[in-house]
Amino acid sequence: MMARPGETVEVLLPVALDRTYTYRVPFGIELMPGDVVRVALAGRETVGVVWEGDGGLPASSNRLRHVEERLDAPPLRADMRRFVEWVAGWTLAPRGMVMRMALRAPEPPEERARLVYRRTGREPERLTAARSRVLAVLADGLAHEKRALVEAAGVSPGVIDALVDQGAVTPIALPPAPVAPPPDPGFAAARLSPAQAEAAAALQQAVAARRFSATLLEGVTGAGKTEVYFEAVAETVRQGGQALILLPEIALTNQFLDRFAARFGVRPAEWHSGIAAKKRTRLWHAIAKGEAAVVAGARSALFLPFADLRLIVVDEEHDSAYKQDEGPRYHARDMAVVRARLLDAPVVLASATPSIESRVNADRGRYGHILLPERFGGRALPRIEAVDMRVEAPERGRFIAPRLLAEVRRTLSRGEQALLFLNRRGYAPLTLCRHCGHRFQCPNCTAWLVEHRFRKALMCHHCGHAEPVPRACPACRTEDALAACGPGVERIAEEVAGLFPDTHTVILSSDLFGGTERLKQELEAVAKGEVELVIGTQLVAKGHNFPHLTLVGVLDADLGLGTGDPRAAERTFQLLGQVTGRAGRGERPGQALLQTYDPGHPVMQAMISGDRAAFYEREIAMRAGAGLPPFGRMAALTVSDVERAPAEAFARALVQAAPREAAIRVLGPAEAPIAVLRGRHRFRILLQAPREVALQDYIRAWLAAGPKLRAQLALDIDIDPMNF
Ligand code: ADP
Ligand code: ZN
Repeated sequence: MMARPGETVEVLLPVALDRTYTYRVPFGIELMPGDVVRVALAGRETVGVVWEGDGGLPASSNRLRHVEERLDAPPLRADMRRFVEWVAGWTLAPRGMVMRMALRAPEPPEERARLVYRRTGREPERLTAARSRVLAVLADGLAHEKRALVEAAGVSPGVIDALVDQGAVTPIALPPAPVAPPPDPGFAAARLSPAQAEAAAALQQAVAARRFSATLLEGVTGAGKTEVYFEAVAETVRQGGQALILLPEIALTNQFLDRFAARFGVRPAEWHSGIAAKKRTRLWHAIAKGEAAVVAGARSALFLPFADLRLIVVDEEHDSAYKQDEGPRYHARDMAVVRARLLDAPVVLASATPSIESRVNADRGRYGHILLPERFGGRALPRIEAVDMRVEAPERGRFIAPRLLAEVRRTLSRGEQALLFLNRRGYAPLTLCRHCGHRFQCPNCTAWLVEHRFRKALMCHHCGHAEPVPRACPACRTEDALAACGPGVERIAEEVAGLFPDTHTVILSSDLFGGTERLKQELEAVAKGEVELVIGTQLVAKGHNFPHLTLVGVLDADLGLGTGDPRAAERTFQLLGQVTGRAGRGERPGQALLQTYDPGHPVMQAMISGDRAAFYEREIAMRAGAGLPPFGRMAALTVSDVERAPAEAFARALVQAAPREAAIRVLGPAEAPIAVLRGRHRFRILLQAPREVALQDYIRAWLAAGPKLRAQLALDIDIDPMNF
């Protein structure tokens, strides 16, 4: 498929276009699909990728333009091009947008040597106080990096340069540190329990087979799933292949990286948006060359140019953080399975509370199923009880029931750690004027503003809008009449501070001052047992190992159940399963209390009885009966505009233009659950179809023939939406 000078090639551009453009190959080069090239389009230069094609459009109407040059960048491999095609075909996102996720700035990584500084033994001409401090640090005879010297001696970088000029200090160039030092599969293999060993052997076999397979690794919280899939990773490394581990909150999981290092001697290469751009570029090239053996990453790591990827692990596979919410709306778990299939490699999905989708795939034999029904080391699962808030509620204005409070007291007095869990950021979800009833609404969204007392602001959790909390009600001018309705974690912290004034308490919430770094530190402090009482939102529920934690109190276990969303029960079951699963992972047994107004709800019953199988059975039967995913297919089309009328009119026109097909139900348009978001009015159309129907083909044909978008209108397609 090589194209020679004078012949033409198709080029896909990393923009919101599905089509390719045709260019002529210039004199002196030959091009292959996957090559990264520079081309001109509409008078602008852009980078693109040579693509297999069946005839694109000329980039200019009167004559075919030449490719400007081929860039010195690793080509997009055939497996990646197929993956891009697949993801675009599934999500209906333009191919260019998907390809963009796989394309990085093509400049080769900077191989700058590191400079370190050492004393020469010569004295400087003039010995200032600053200079002598530097020489004192260097008196150890070792070489130090400039930054370290500057810090240790408390001097400006110029002082070191002056010492170099005077011959008292000399720089030495070291080769750059490898971005991804090789993991050692034999570094410190764990002694596996018999159940773990059996599971690990099955996964190692899957790795050795070098064929596609998907396995659901289902084990209760604390079963030791990580140790099990580490053995599959070890096998992959032993065979010289690369492994990818996807994690939902990689930016926060130092603990995971340390565990990996304890097993393999080094940390894995870490891939997420928090990694500095330069380092990411180096890492990208190391992965393309096959030098980075194991990558632990966020969902975007699926688009990394692995030279020889032989295993994908999706940890906490049920986690909704795997769904990308903008741009190409792909689900990283599902796309991991696709990537593995295209590579003919195994994929392992690990969870204590698998998604209904994966459970059904395992039940039907499409996926292998490995069960670890007990915790490692004979530890017990936490005992879970309901606190019936209809009869055991605390007094007005308080949110912790007396029974939970008593347990917190008992736990703290034993020197153990307790967690109070509430999945609500801020102080109160709603603020209103006691005098006139005025409520604070976001100017950009159909949402109430949430009071954040630490930040002294009313904030929108959808668009980030913030405004100061006023003294007087803006509607009736009454002063000091604002009332907080309902609790957020900050309000719980306030209640706790009054009850346990001398207890070391921390709030863990994504809007904590100090951002990710601070959160990481706090999470580590909790893991080390330096904190007595933790108040947290869903981010504490994810995968953390808190060995000192023995009590989990869920303040509002019903939150998220009453939404009418068909996935509400599943999501609540997963969240409660994860958060209660943080208790009792160390030496002491754990317990959990769920504050609920509906203790008879199947989710609460499943938690209390521990009969997870019954929950899955019931939930799966319900989905099957209603034709909901994974037994049917769904898609959501959202039309938006800065004005309401055109959005609604277009959505109606779209529905009218929908081809009639007996198997496909077109519902709506209706106002989206958040009717106005970031200043855009939104109308939604839902599609439902049996599993055998190719919903994407239907939508493609519909949109191609339907009314055309104009002006401010936008249409957003979500195949298999997670939220309704
Ligand atoms: P899961 O991921 O299933 O929730 P983990 O893999 O985090 O469980 O294991 C739970 C705890 O048990 C961790 O502290 C882990 O270090 C420990 N553990 C698991 N397997 C072993 C083993 N084979 N030897 C020693 N400790 C283990
Ligand atoms: Zn808003």
